[in-house]
Amino acid sequence: MDCIFCKIAHGEIPSATLYEDDAFRVILDVGPASRGHALILPKEHAKDLYSLSEETASKVLVLAKKMASKMSEALGCDGLNLVQNNGEIAGQTVFHFHMHLIPRYKGDDVKIGWRPGRLSEKDKNELLSLLR
Ligand code: AMP
Ligand code: ZN
Repeated sequence: MDCIFCKIAHGEIPSATLYEDDAFRVILDVGPASRGHALILPKEHAKDLYSLSEETASKVLVLAKKMASKMSEALGCDGLNLVQNNGEIAGQTVFHFHMHLIPRYKGDDVKIGWRPGRLSEKDKNELLSLLR
């Protein structure tokens, strides 16, 4: 399998590594949205959240929390977005699960967002019966 994030996670391709343990590597993104933009890469290959093991899934947010605290303290950012894209339509471009840590600074021009719609009664009821 030719997966660039597998190669980076396993150290076969060099990367700017901020943290490594037996299950993860955290690297600086080469195309940062903001100063300090980092990626959490599991060493296990899973193409997206749907195929990620529960074991890795359960660890990833704990690591995100540790990295977020470290980054906020060291960078003095004013906030931080966690972003995790699944599927092309959702903006995924590398098909090895990863989580973005995007530090935010007052006045930055990072765009992560959507235009809020309005939840109709009909949709709410349909969604509750579909998803509950
Ligand atoms: P996504 O669009 O969620 O799949 O995010 C992929 C991210 O990986 C983008 O932010 C890219 O800038 C980043 N990226 C791609 N190749 C590399 C690489 N070799 N090293 C570090 N970051 C990378
Ligand atoms: Zn991979």
